[in-house]
Amino acid sequence: RTLSEAEELVALAAARLAAIALQRHRTQVQLWHLAHHDRLTNLPNRARLQEKLDDAIQDARRHNTSLAVMFLDVDNFKIINDSLSHEFGDQVLQQVSDRLRGVVGGDGYCARLGGDEFTVVHEGAMSLAALGDLAGRLVVAFEPPLRIGDQEVKVTVSIGVSKFPEHADDAEGLLRAADTALFRSKERGRNQFALFNQEMLEEAARKFTIEQGLHGAIERDELRLVFQPELSLEGNRAVAVEALLRWQLADGRLVPPGEFLAVAEQSRLILDIGDWVMRTAIAKAAEWHRGPWPDVRIAVNVSPRQLLDGRFVARVASLLREQALPPSCLEIELTESVLQTGPATVEALRQLRALGVSIALDDFGTGYSSLASLEQLPLTRVKLDRSLVDTIDTSERSFAIAHAIIELCRGLGLAITAEGIERPTQFALLARERDVTLQGYLFSRPIPEPEWLALLPQVPARL
Ligand code: C2E
Ligand code: MG
Ligand code: MG
Repeated sequence: RTLSEAEELVALAAARLAAIALQRHRTQVQLWHLAHHDRLTNLPNRARLQEKLDDAIQDARRHNTSLAVMFLDVDNFKIINDSLSHEFGDQVLQQVSDRLRGVVGGDGYCARLGGDEFTVVHEGAMSLAALGDLAGRLVVAFEPPLRIGDQEVKVTVSIGVSKFPEHADDAEGLLRAADTALFRSKERGRNQFALFNQEMLEEAARKFTIEQGLHGAIERDELRLVFQPELSLEGNRAVAVEALLRWQLADGRLVPPGEFLAVAEQSRLILDIGDWVMRTAIAKAAEWHRGPWPDVRIAVNVSPRQLLDGRFVARVASLLREQALPPSCLEIELTESVLQTGPATVEALRQLRALGVSIALDDFGTGYSSLASLEQLPLTRVKLDRSLVDTIDTSERSFAIAHAIIELCRGLGLAITAEGIERPTQFALLARERDVTLQGYLFSRPIPEPEWLALLPQVPARL
């Protein structure tokens, strides 16, 4: 071979090597891209976001500037995904990411954390007001429905926003703060954004502590019942007594249900607690039935989740039998949220009625479906919510409303209790409606058993 031929071969081999190296480099880049991006939307994934956030925070620290993280989630995405195929769900997610990119533009970048969770990161200084503005624009961007194939789909998003350095000083903390704020915006009714604040964190911590403490509260014998009478001017007597739950902490503080029941409702705890209440209330009522109060009636609040449990009716029946308490001595109180739980619960209520147990609709007048509840639930009593009774003595309109509702319930053959009577002027107005049962601080706060048994014989004189 000539020298020039040899040189040509060498050049060829070098070119081939370069091509291989380039190819290898491309593959590496592609692999890197795959590992750091979400395949569906081609947005940075969780791992990549973490790296980018770490870098951005270092930068922000060095230059003394700020950084914001928005945690965004598609409301009710699971329903879309489950009811209309997962392919459809994938397309929804792709379009959501397109729309996000469209709004964010050069103001930051988006990432997909998985599922229907996205983040938007904004680097550089931005006031909280400007941040709120951006988050608001993101929410509004979903007002026009998505178009998938020939179908229109309406989606809404909820957003939680956190900011460096105000809310956290590392990536993990920022994401957690934004997630906490997201939770809050969902709680407030979705389709909106919430800026993180310190109280939210305290709230989350408080919830966690409550949940931890509630586990084992029954075993440690920390639950208590207090009793508040419902009184009637017909016969000047107590028609019933409502059992209300309290949680007694080791330091002696009595925690009201408003502070822990919502947490219990989010888990199975509510079933154990509800069962304790029912068991204890029936046992107490049976004691009174055989002793100081033969025509006892005890009212027990029941959460929708208890009714959803298929064994509820049988359990109540067996407790009544065990304690030899006539079913007519028990009244269960429900709120109209039971209507959202479907036909099975209404059936359970029918069975309770068949057993002879009374059923009261609590907090009447606070919801939107009150009239539907009156029609669809097998009720014996309606309890007018405190908010209805509150202004009857200061506003003629509000008295007229309460009066009309009382007439309506009467017409339906339902017994009526007015809750939350605090002032003699409210009492004076309601006393005209002789058949309305009265309950409120004016007569008695909820009190422990010994006090209630002391009050019982004094009821006629008090009234
Ligand atoms: P509720 O069943 O509507 O009970 C009435 C609430 O109003 C009670 O609060 C009672 O203390 C309060 N109250 C009574 N009279 C007055 C008044 O004149 N003025 C004012 N401002 N308040 C009055 P409590 O005991 O904190 O209970 C709150 C709610 O927690 C209850 O509302 C009920 O929905 C729920 N709850 C209580 N015990 C239980 C239980 O054992 N199981 C379930 N599932 N829920 C319960
Ligand atoms: Mg009640
Ligand atoms: Mg009530």
